[in-house]
Amino acid sequence: MKHRMTQNDLLHRLSQEHLSLLRELGSLADEGGVSLYLVGGVVRDLLLKRENWDLDLTVEGDGIAFARLVADRYGAGLAVFERFATARLVFPDGLKIDIATTRRESYEQPALLPTVQPASIEEDLSRRDFTINAIAVQLNPRQFGRVLDPYGGQRDLRARTIRVLHAGSFQDDPTRIFRAIRFEQRFGFRLERATVRLLAQAASTNLIQQLSGPRLQNEILLLFAEQYPARAIARLAQLKLLRFLHRRLCYTKNVKRTVAAVPKALAWWVHRFPDSAIDRPIVYLMALSNESSPVVVAAMIRRLALSRVQAKNVSAGGRQVDRALKRLTNKETARPSQVYRLLTDFSDEALVLLLAKQLSVQHGVRLSLLKRHLVAYVKNKAIKTALTGRDLQAMGLQPGPRYKTILGKLLDARIDGVVTTEADERVFVRKWLGNQKVQNEC
Ligand code: ATP
Repeated sequence: MKHRMTQNDLLHRLSQEHLSLLRELGSLADEGGVSLYLVGGVVRDLLLKRENWDLDLTVEGDGIAFARLVADRYGAGLAVFERFATARLVFPDGLKIDIATTRRESYEQPALLPTVQPASIEEDLSRRDFTINAIAVQLNPRQFGRVLDPYGGQRDLRARTIRVLHAGSFQDDPTRIFRAIRFEQRFGFRLERATVRLLAQAASTNLIQQLSGPRLQNEILLLFAEQYPARAIARLAQLKLLRFLHRRLCYTKNVKRTVAAVPKALAWWVHRFPDSAIDRPIVYLMALSNESSPVVVAAMIRRLALSRVQAKNVSAGGRQVDRALKRLTNKETARPSQVYRLLTDFSDEALVLLLAKQLSVQHGVRLSLLKRHLVAYVKNKAIKTALTGRDLQAMGLQPGPRYKTILGKLLDARIDGVVTTEADERVFVRKWLGNQKVQNEC
């Protein structure tokens, strides 16, 4: 087998702690009579000098038995996945390490999950997605730091190239189509020429349609969780892959602009409201489907098997957002309670989209007005009335639908600063009830 010999410095790019742990695990591997390797993304990232804390190990031999040995020695927690011959260790300090068994995979049917059998490290590397992810570093003491790179992964890293290992790779596993774009855009690499051709070929068949909803969703949301999803989306469009979300998805100039404005909107939001947890990938999906018809969006949601919360967000991301934006940016004099009522059903993700849309069209007065509204709205969301239904009952009001109306009016009055104390609220309710009575008598 071809490999470049030891790159002494490579493992020294790890933290001291990780380095010593890997040395110890290498010695344990000798004790257990197995060969142990560091593999996959972490090796690629070490070579690229990028940080990566996912220590993926693979064992030539019985991976699960080795994981048990490590768990005993270190008092680590152990979860075993017999079916995949893998295990996850959680060390007492919280460090997590995945341990796999070197394996061969065969795809009985394209696009479905493969069957798995034990195999050599060489075979294990040969089932991987791209050359840059098919490099291993041995950890047993005598071979510590030996790099195994049978497919020219280091060459491709230097050439900044994403290359599949064999012509049937995308057919075996079409998720690799999206992974290719993910790595290409993350590292600013290019797909190698034959790889582009194979990707286009695989995409021209119905293989991607055969991917299950959750698997497609996973790939799309991972892509949108990257640092520069706008570039990944543009690349999906260029390679005509957006049609796999829905063939009538509208990727217009406006959509492009909105998608491009999302990072700025997110940055503003996170700066203003550091405690809010935004589902970033979903904001991108909302931006991307913003000009598609509700029917198309609904079909896309089904195709991606989105969760209920995600689905609610994405389906609210279209016209509702546009309508609210128009009203918020036109009515300079909108009362705080009107803004509250307009936005009260919006998730934080929808509010970020609202801002992104405004950012994508102009940066003037209306933008600062919108930002003021958003800040006020988030503050006002916390406001509650002092009186409750019980108080209304004590004031002699018969239970019924009027409770909701009165408490709503009261909340509006609180938000607008018309009432500020409980006593104010009581006066407000009495007055309102009095007016109602007069109106009814008329
Ligand atoms: P990231 O930095 O995004 O975590 P990664 O390379 O670590 O990227 P993982 O999805 O964690 O990616 O997978 C770990 C390794 O498993 C990859 O580096 C690759 O060698 C292999 N792998 C993962 N998914 C596939 C796939 N679909 N086909 C073939 N090999 C895969």
